[in-house]
Amino acid sequence: MTSALGRLCFAVALPLTLLALVTLPGSRHLMAQQKKAVEAPKKGGSAKSKKLVKKKGGAKAKAKAQPKGPPPTPAKALFGAAKSPSPLAARAIGFYAKGCLAGGKAIPIDGPAWQVMRLSRNRNWGHPRLISLVERLAVDVKAHDGWNGLLVGDISQPRGGPMLTGHASHQIGLDADIWLTPMPDKRMDRREREDLAATSMLAADRVSVDPKVWTEAHGRLILRAASYSQIERVLVHPAIKKALCENKAFPRDHLRKVRPYWGHHYHMHIRMFCPKDSPGCTPQAVVGTDDGCGKEVDDWIARMKRIYAPRPPVEPKIVVPKPKPTPKPPEITLADLPVACKLVIGNTSPPGPSPLSDVTKPDPDAAETDGKAETSDDKAAKPALAGKK
Ligand SMILES: [Zn+2]
Repeated sequence: MTSALGRLCFAVALPLTLLALVTLPGSRHLMAQQKKAVEAPKKGGSAKSKKLVKKKGGAKAKAKAQPKGPPPTPAKALFGAAKSPSPLAARAIGFYAKGCLAGGKAIPIDGPAWQVMRLSRNRNWGHPRLISLVERLAVDVKAHDGWNGLLVGDISQPRGGPMLTGHASHQIGLDADIWLTPMPDKRMDRREREDLAATSMLAADRVSVDPKVWTEAHGRLILRAASYSQIERVLVHPAIKKALCENKAFPRDHLRKVRPYWGHHYHMHIRMFCPKDSPGCTPQAVVGTDDGCGKEVDDWIARMKRIYAPRPPVEPKIVVPKPKPTPKPPEITLADLPVACKLVIGNTSPPGPSPLSDVTKPDPDAAETDGKAETSDDKAAKPALAGKK
């Protein structure tokens, strides 16, 4: 009986002991080593086995190269925190919607024919050539076009780069928003420059200009900007483009540079060509020779009419599937920007948590959208869509 019990105990204990050996970390390591020894090719082993080992090593190295940790700080937090320009020679670096600005210059907040708006944003910085051009435009339109002077909206941050709110472009100091509201005669104080609302040019239908607001002087202002050889394109709402096309009193020469796009019914967006001093500036595809007054603008208007058309009431039984939310593009990090941008942002101390808290705040003035989910003007500034604008 006793020996039978002993045999039974042994029969149970042996597998348990083996199981414990297998599950002990040390023993697992040992076994892994043994397994490795079995798998490792002998010197002069077959090509196939060599390949296998190489692959395994590659995967391991990859895992090592990408250690898990907090995601890198978005570039907009770094550039949004920079309060002053980089002390480098002026140059635009990268593309309008992915780059930065070295040696930025601020346009004075008051000039003989302009006032800068929304001073709290500190976005009145640009490439010195763009700043000169905005100043020249202000003086020219006041002298020749019956326009009282410019209200200057966003240009760029002191070191350019992505912004915490609003625009996708305006990153390299070559884009500027000019309000379509004429400058008041009086000099506005800081509060007034924050509070004054810009005037939309659109009629209630949202696909045509309001004749009570839109004037020929608005058209002359836009076409004056387009006439400068340094200006690459001017973005306006399709209804404004249509109004320019339809008024035969306007010169046709530079209409092709006036490009229709979402938003831009209370401001125009002027964009300069890459200046000669900026070899690292990536140009946008040049606009064609067509003035865009035919099919192009008509397609835009038709599309907007479809969007804004009143819809018949939906039967309560019909379930309208929710549109899939468009996935957000990944945040631009410093690593995504041109290498020279590291030098541009180098002297800025890392931001505290406060700038990031602004990220989700709506920014109606800067967003350049048209009420539709889609769009800041600047999404189209990406090269892939360059031809569409
Ligand atoms: Zn803009």
